[in-house]
Amino acid sequence: MVNFQMIAVQPVLGLTPYQPGKPIEELARELGLDPAKIVKLASNENPLGPSPRALAAMDAALGETARYPDGSGFALKGELARRLGTAPERITLGNGSNDVLDLVARVFLGPGRSAVFSEHAFAVYPIATQAVGAEARVAPAHDGRRGPRYGHDLGAMLDRVADDTTVVFVANPNNPTGTYVTAKELEDFLVALPEWVIAVVDEAYFEYVERDDYPDAVAWLDRFPNLIVTRTFSKAYGLAGLRVGYAVSHPQVAELLNRVRQPFNVNHLALAAAVAALDDGEHLERTRRLNREGLRQLEAAFQRLGLDYIPSIGNFVTVDVGREARPVFDALLREGVIVRPVANYGLPNHLRVSVGTKAENDAFIAALERVLGGL
Ligand SMILES: *Cc1c(COP(=O)(O)O)cnc(C)c1O
Repeated sequence: MVNFQMIAVQPVLGLTPYQPGKPIEELARELGLDPAKIVKLASNENPLGPSPRALAAMDAALGETARYPDGSGFALKGELARRLGTAPERITLGNGSNDVLDLVARVFLGPGRSAVFSEHAFAVYPIATQAVGAEARVAPAHDGRRGPRYGHDLGAMLDRVADDTTVVFVANPNNPTGTYVTAKELEDFLVALPEWVIAVVDEAYFEYVERDDYPDAVAWLDRFPNLIVTRTFSKAYGLAGLRVGYAVSHPQVAELLNRVRQPFNVNHLALAAAVAALDDGEHLERTRRLNREGLRQLEAAFQRLGLDYIPSIGNFVTVDVGREARPVFDALLREGVIVRPVANYGLPNHLRVSVGTKAENDAFIAALERVLGGL
């Protein structure tokens, strides 16, 4: 048989696949556990689930699934544009915002070009960059003296921008650190960035943020035509399983992204659900409140257990377990609790835990205490 690695394009050979959170069914199978008793706090999903309005919209749309979806996403783009105070021509829909990040890489990166992102940044940036044969230029994160430890150091990122750099990725807040850059920091960065470098500001956790100094990047699109803001329905809107995200950008950038977009990249049910989800402000408010309380609950527990954690403005917290995290992760699995190891992010002693319901958080904390006491 031929060795197909000899036939694969060069950039693919250097890739390692994205490691998703362990699915509940998989753990249930492996350990013979009842799936209903497993607590999954591994993928930053909304513990309240989707809005009932989104569910009703999907129900109503089920009978139409023999038809192709609206490839232009007319209704969803219109609704997003209205709410964001922008034009539909600025919006690009994606099969999750990961899809949009990939479109950006395919349009603006390639062999002989480079992308800049931070140490400990979201794992999709290196994958999207390397998959198209571009070089990753990784900037060191803050060491805690001039900004939040492990957080993006925009000054260091600017220093990494080279002549062949065409894209920088800024996750705000970043996953898995939960850290953020302020409006002032981001604005200074965008002013200093050469105008031919595309700045992707990934706001996957935008709806959770409750900080006065957090930037409103969408409002800056007129000032910075090289800015792309990405958001998603996977996190606060509780629609991770449907895969809907979007980018807001200059119309010319959106038109370029649209050239490489799969014609029907967002499916019919997802489009219907996303429009309905936008209309349920109460569900979003409940989601934010639960998250606020859950963050406090987890932080208080970590303090009580004497564990350092990275202060987060997202729907997850990354905690230093004070030893190699892998055995703690494995022991938690045996307790029926799935969290996320982040050694692949350069954080071998940390675990990332998503904020769950109060009961889920309690179960995680109790399991963590048992595990740390027993190791
Ligand atoms: C979760 C996440 C995304 C989005 O994922 P999709 O489900 O593809 O929308 C994007 N960026 C960051 C930083 C994330 O954590």
